[in-house]
Amino acid sequence: MTTRASLAGDHTIAFDCPKCRLRTKVGLDKIGHTYHCQVKCSCGNIFSAEIELRERPRKQLDLPGSYEIVDRATPAPTAPEAGSCRVIDLSRTGLAFLKSTGRELKAGERVRVSLTLDDGEATRISQDCEVRHVKGNFVGCRLLTENAALEYYLLS
Ligand SMILES: [Zn+2]
Repeated sequence: MTTRASLAGDHTIAFDCPKCRLRTKVGLDKIGHTYHCQVKCSCGNIFSAEIELRERPRKQLDLPGSYEIVDRATPAPTAPEAGSCRVIDLSRTGLAFLKSTGRELKAGERVRVSLTLDDGEATRISQDCEVRHVKGNFVGCRLLTENAALEYYLLS
């Protein structure tokens, strides 16, 4: 039997034991990218749970942020290696931003993107990314690390 999980506060997911109805909370950082997991309730019951996160949650948004280049394709920069941007797309595996200042980025470069989420707590995110696609001021990136705060934001 598979039980559904639901979002609880505090960056956790809640699992209700099908046997005793007791609620077990697991931190999103421990769940990572899995969609199914085994939960051991304190009653001793072990059950499998499906994490209902909607298929690859993705948010389109428009949040002001900034970026700095942490690993560049060409040495000896002549232009500023940081700039401001607007983050317009977020998923568990990538983000995209529109650059408003700074030189053109190149695929393969690594950038650290900083932004403040509009989640009511104004959570600050600093995320290392690899540039994958560049088209004018549009920069599409792959996330290089998992980010629990970001994942929680995508779910809420
Ligand atoms: Zn139980």
